[in-house]
Amino acid sequence: MLKENIKNYDLDDLKVKIEQLREKKYRAEQIFNWIYKENVMSFDEMTNLSLELREKLKANFDMHNFNIITKQESKDGTKKYLFDVLDNNAIETVLMQYKYGKTICVSSQIGCKMGCKFCASTGVKFARSLEAGEIVEQLLAIERDENIKISNLVFMGIGEPLDNFDNVMKAIKILNNPKGINMGARHISISTSGLVPKIYELADRNIQCTLSISLHSAKDEKRSQMMPINKTYDIAQLMEACRYYINKTNRRISFEYALAKDNNDNLDDAESLSKLLKGMLCHVNLIPINKIENGKYAKSTNENIIKFRDYLNSKGIVATIRRELGSDIDAACGQLRKKEVSK
Ligand code: SAH
Repeated sequence: MLKENIKNYDLDDLKVKIEQLREKKYRAEQIFNWIYKENVMSFDEMTNLSLELREKLKANFDMHNFNIITKQESKDGTKKYLFDVLDNNAIETVLMQYKYGKTICVSSQIGCKMGCKFCASTGVKFARSLEAGEIVEQLLAIERDENIKISNLVFMGIGEPLDNFDNVMKAIKILNNPKGINMGARHISISTSGLVPKIYELADRNIQCTLSISLHSAKDEKRSQMMPINKTYDIAQLMEACRYYINKTNRRISFEYALAKDNNDNLDDAESLSKLLKGMLCHVNLIPINKIENGKYAKSTNENIIKFRDYLNSKGIVATIRRELGSDIDAACGQLRKKEVSK
């Protein structure tokens, strides 16, 4: 049985824990530094702590370092990791290389409950949500493996981050801390299928991360076919929440729109979308839909994708086509899925 993961604590919580072990509070900062700045894998490496404290830490906590089961590399340099999360489950995490830095796409849950018809993460049974420390460990494990510093993080891997709200918030707090990883909120994006009450909650936290909304259609009937969540929170409710978010945070929202051939990619769809987003502080990310096993949706033609973008731009809506990364190793949007660890 594993002990509590020490990476589940932000610095304030860790101070409390350390005082409970009858140690001085500043020790917590030293430990935090070892874990998040030095990225060590064991308490034994924390050499400025007394032997006695190191033993106490070992008796009470674990480091929960993930094991790499496989690592695949795409022709475009994208890397996909399959991590053993130490309870017979495995998750995928993707590392992408952009001009401006390295971005990691993390999973927030093992499996997903949302049931979106075009996404591979849905095709397997939901196991559980990830803990805060397991979210952060995806970054630490890749930084150790590649000996790099990751500059951006997106919650666009497996799972619905707003369905694991508290752990995601805690992970962001840990990532933000200047005494550790020191990744600013502006370097973090949360993508949601549209859990409306949680969008309000996120807005009220007023953290400066980017919110991405997986929209995929501006028409309720079509969106409900693609994304069952739309039957619970329809487009009008979703847009109301988005406006609230923009007003509260002054941050531009990014709308994700995966273009599927003969489904949501004609100019009539583009027109509905432009009307829906008119006057909003936003940006549209057009994603050529990635084919998944048994998926009924096919990628739009390049011609349609460009027409769709140009139409939006002509209506004053900023839209860009997302570069496809890692599709040859099934690491692109919607292609990640949880796996069982065979022992
Ligand atoms: N659950 C969250 C985050 C994970 S998905 C969400 O729904 O936003 C990350 C992005 O990939 C989302 O915009 C999602 O809609 C998109 N996506 C899922 N399947 C896809 C596919 N087959 N092709 C292209 N994008 C896809």
